[in-house]
Amino acid sequence: MKALVLLSGGLDSTLAMKLLLEQGIEVVAVHFVSPFFRSPWAVKTTQEWGVPLLEVDITDDILELLKAPPHGFGSQMNPCIDCHALMLRKAKEIMKEVGASFVATGEVLGERPMSQNRTALRIVERESGLEGLLLRPLSAKLFPPTIPEKEGWVDREKLLDIQGRSRKRQVELAEKWGIEHYPSPAGGCLLTDPQFSKRLRDLMENGELTKENVALLKLGRHFRLRKGVKLVVGRNKEENERLRGLFRKGDFLLQAYSHKGPDAILRGNVAEEGIILAGRIVGRYSDLGEGEKLKVKVQGDTERIIEIERAEEEVVRKLML
Ligand code: SF4
Repeated sequence: MKALVLLSGGLDSTLAMKLLLEQGIEVVAVHFVSPFFRSPWAVKTTQEWGVPLLEVDITDDILELLKAPPHGFGSQMNPCIDCHALMLRKAKEIMKEVGASFVATGEVLGERPMSQNRTALRIVERESGLEGLLLRPLSAKLFPPTIPEKEGWVDREKLLDIQGRSRKRQVELAEKWGIEHYPSPAGGCLLTDPQFSKRLRDLMENGELTKENVALLKLGRHFRLRKGVKLVVGRNKEENERLRGLFRKGDFLLQAYSHKGPDAILRGNVAEEGIILAGRIVGRYSDLGEGEKLKVKVQGDTERIIEIERAEEEVVRKLML
């Protein structure tokens, strides 16, 4: 009997996988990735345990989903119910491809009030088309038996009845099985992060939800100069390098030239005044002395140097996201 386990890399799904492995069930793991979530632990754990892992990129589906999730968002920009349903729909297809008989997840009843209550868990099961074939090993005893349990593919007695937000039992199991490294419960998904969500909301309100723009959200200080024009300023050497890597046709790359200072990407429908304002914001984060002017290298289709005074603190604060 083979099971397909949805492995986020977090503790719950790792334990769900381990519970099946302990029963001698063959496991294939699938790790869904996007710019918002990806965990190095999915790879490390499966390598260590000799479990085949499929990494499946669902960026396009998630970006589409974010535009109008039928079951809405959680406390931030996390459309958890629809995201779960999406992953399970994909899992159903993969289950057939890899010859697995059922799907298992690390969901725990009541761990997340919005997306892991009985109603939400029923919704995602129904919408995924996996009715009866979706096993939640950590909370299985709190639900009616699934087909794998009724058919004896899985020993229900060896499954668990974990419920609620306390992680005590999971942490005990992790100790028992020597699982030392795992992220905090909400640590794996940027869509649950308030600051990231604020920037994402701004992108969506400006009709700029693309892969390229989402990639920029993950680094730097962000400024909305006006509708359709966005500036991202690096906070350190590493971010400056990464920003340069994300520079693409149509963007302007600004670099402090006469003094030490950051790199920045200016993106959108940019007019000359936008370039000057962006340069002044770059000046705010440079080593510019009082009353000095900063030379900024501006690279677009062509390259030139502009000379600016740094922006006032209140201007920077007003435009910062
Ligand atoms: S926390 Fe993120 S990855 Fe997990 S279900 Fe919610 S939106 Fe999807």
